[in-house]
Amino acid sequence: MKNKINTRKLITVLLTLNSVIITETTAQAPHSHKHDIEFPNIPGFKTLKGDFHQHTVFSDGQVWPTIRVEEALREGLDAISITDHLEYQPHKRDIPHPDRNRGYQIAKKKAKGKDLIVINGAEITKKVMPPGHLNAIFLKDANKLLNDDALSQCRAAKKQDAFVFWNHPSWVRQRKDGVATLTPMHRQLIDEGLLHGIEIASESEYSEEAFQIAIDNNLTLIGSSDIHHLIAWKYHEKEGGHRPITLIFAKEKTSEAMKEALLNQRTAVYFNNTLIGNSEYLVPLVKQSLRVTKTEIVKAHGTKNSFVQAVTFKNESDVDYILENTSKFSLQSHTPIFTIKANSTMKINVKTLELLNTFDLKFTVLNALVAPKKYAEITIKIIR
Ligand code: ZN
Repeated sequence: MKNKINTRKLITVLLTLNSVIITETTAQAPHSHKHDIEFPNIPGFKTLKGDFHQHTVFSDGQVWPTIRVEEALREGLDAISITDHLEYQPHKRDIPHPDRNRGYQIAKKKAKGKDLIVINGAEITKKVMPPGHLNAIFLKDANKLLNDDALSQCRAAKKQDAFVFWNHPSWVRQRKDGVATLTPMHRQLIDEGLLHGIEIASESEYSEEAFQIAIDNNLTLIGSSDIHHLIAWKYHEKEGGHRPITLIFAKEKTSEAMKEALLNQRTAVYFNNTLIGNSEYLVPLVKQSLRVTKTEIVKAHGTKNSFVQAVTFKNESDVDYILENTSKFSLQSHTPIFTIKANSTMKINVKTLELLNTFDLKFTVLNALVAPKKYAEITIKIIR
């Protein structure tokens, strides 16, 4: 009898424990997909992650602005901008809010006390190209841009010291051939200091021609999601997916410092496991990402000049770096093209033959573009 009671008690305890475990697992479930996009800082600058082109129900988006904040927090972004269309509000019968700052205000309130900078923005939305669609961010009052004429809208944005960029310049709905082309109107906007940046990667498209326009006209490189639905549905379906973002090399993590960096073209774009930007920032970014954690000597055979030196790299970024060995040494452990996976460690064996106290490893980074069809070249000094 005593034994029976004890058994029953034990079962009760086990059942209780089990339900505690189940409850805890359920409670943690909503956070299980949290994934911070990781990039190291570069010498002199913080590497900030921003998505400055996003929609909510205040134009043709499908979500309330608070969702944009939660998505950004899940991904560890540093800054977002809500850029609802000024000229297109398909939900206005249900959400008849005349104040065009409202989406920003709601998002800003949601981000209060969080480590996320929310910037006020608006999308100037013209049916035809030129000028097509333009985003004005760092606005003080989006309502002041409500005007039919794009040029006047850009001038109104300038009055508020906004940063303006050209959205999806190769969008086939507005460019039949899908080729971004600088028009006289865009030329005028640039000459008047009204246009500062250009999207070279937007949603699921990359535009090589837009990249060249940026280089030729000193425009800031922008990558953005232009999200209307949910980020997770659009970009995380496949393992390792990510939204296009802009990496901003800022002196500090403030709205002002970020704007200074944007106005001085200190950005790069992270799109589809590829980095795109000026080599001045891209080369240090890749080098900071690939840290040498260990060097070892491997004596291959009994002969005097038969040394292999093993170098261990730690990839401290979210990019799977695809490298091509261009060093004067060949590798023992890898063929010339190999990948160092994101957030992981990898050892490569280098056939130095002689025992060297210091030597250079050189790589072409096949998924880091410094100009159309031109890849970043990095040199890593190995010290034994
Ligand atoms: Zn848009």
